[in-house]
Amino acid sequence: NLTQRLAKVVKTMRGEARLTEANTAEMLREVRMALLEADVALPAVREFIAKVKEKALGEEVIGSLSPGQALVGVVQRELAALMGADLGPDATQLSFAQQPPAIILMAGLQGVGKTTTTGKLAKYLKEQKKKKVLTVSADVYRPAAIAQLESVTKQVGADFFPSSASDKPVDIAKNALDWAKKHYHDVLIIDTAGRLGIDEAMMQEIAAVHAAVKPVETLFVVDAMLGQDAINTAKAFNDALPLTGVVLTKLDGDSRGGAALSVRHVTGKPIKFAGVSEKLDGLEAFDPTRMANRVLGMGDILALVEEARKGVDAEAATELANKIKGGGKFDMNDFKAQLTQMKKMGGMSGLLDKLPAQFQQAAAGANMDQAEKQVRRMVGIIDSMTPGERAKPELIKANRKRRIAAGAGVQVQEVNRMLNQFEQMQTMMKKLKGGGLMKMMRGMKG
Ligand code: GDP
Ligand code: MG
Repeated sequence: NLTQRLAKVVKTMRGEARLTEANTAEMLREVRMALLEADVALPAVREFIAKVKEKALGEEVIGSLSPGQALVGVVQRELAALMGADLGPDATQLSFAQQPPAIILMAGLQGVGKTTTTGKLAKYLKEQKKKKVLTVSADVYRPAAIAQLESVTKQVGADFFPSSASDKPVDIAKNALDWAKKHYHDVLIIDTAGRLGIDEAMMQEIAAVHAAVKPVETLFVVDAMLGQDAINTAKAFNDALPLTGVVLTKLDGDSRGGAALSVRHVTGKPIKFAGVSEKLDGLEAFDPTRMANRVLGMGDILALVEEARKGVDAEAATELANKIKGGGKFDMNDFKAQLTQMKKMGGMSGLLDKLPAQFQQAAAGANMDQAEKQVRRMVGIIDSMTPGERAKPELIKANRKRRIAAGAGVQVQEVNRMLNQFEQMQTMMKKLKGGGLMKMMRGMKG
């Protein structure tokens, strides 16, 4: 696992002020290995490592970051950028900027999920974009293919244009287009045949369909499980057709998704959607940052760090730090602020979502609802205290405990438990003393 391996290297790199050839070499080797393990094709790995090197060398290691942390930051940023993060959020949108119907042409090898994705897209466009959608199958080679598209189209309640296996794909596409115009469809999705391997005749056929109807979107559908092979398929389709985007399917499988990087490397086209289930609602807008972290095997841990940093109100943190530094005391108000901070960050389950898979598994046994309820109850108990009690929790003796418990609707034992937790936190805060706290927060920048 890359995170663990990087953590080891990071430790050996402390105390240097700048990223250099020497202090990044070992780490870049690890990154390279991780990408190859994630099945990213070698040319794409090379391009990426070169880019990271160029960006990283000479970069100043700011604040309390270690060079290792600084490099992880560069790696993650650049990988997300390569995945398409720098294309902006509009990159996943389909284009409708022309006279309807907008034609979407589906391209890709057999079995990658073109027909399924056609159904998913029809559902998405119908429900989310309020479009009137027509689908048609130009797959005249497998008798079941046309029936399969009819079935998924009916399931999502879109319209289906019947075609016959004895027709030519170009004629099928033209006839469907005429029908769509006459019946005021906003979108026509053309599903096509695929072969098990790249095939010259198939490429010519789909190129002819493209030339005949001039789709506004030509989506290359690729299976995330394809791994290294994705690079050759992507190249063949990219050469034969002016692709406008990519759909990466079967991301619900256990592939690390290295195909995403390979396809981006070859086509330069945005990955617009991700297929995440066999079911027709299993389509998501592609998220480059999440994908980068998946390829690196980091879960969304960096997003979590980022969010933690945003969630911590900088002023409140400084105030707290100054207070502790100046001999001020960590009191119940500060404790409540901390608990609330946690809730702001999406609660326990929100946090859990962002952890790498291995942590999620470990935590799966724990009862998150229970934990969240616990936090809410603790806040409730603090709310039942008087301002004086919050400032000086040591005042809280038996009588006051009973009153607070009654106010918060809990047992006295729970008030005791909460006071214990507060004391532990107070002790920790004392140890952190001012600068330490700020350092800890800055350290989270990773
Ligand atoms: P086509 O030959 O390109 O049209 O591929 P199909 O749409 O017929 O899909 C081939 C197989 O992949 C079918 O069993 C689909 O259910 C499955 N499939 C398609 N997309 C996904 C996906 O995103 N996740 C999973 N798990 N299976 C998928
Ligand atoms: Mg099909």
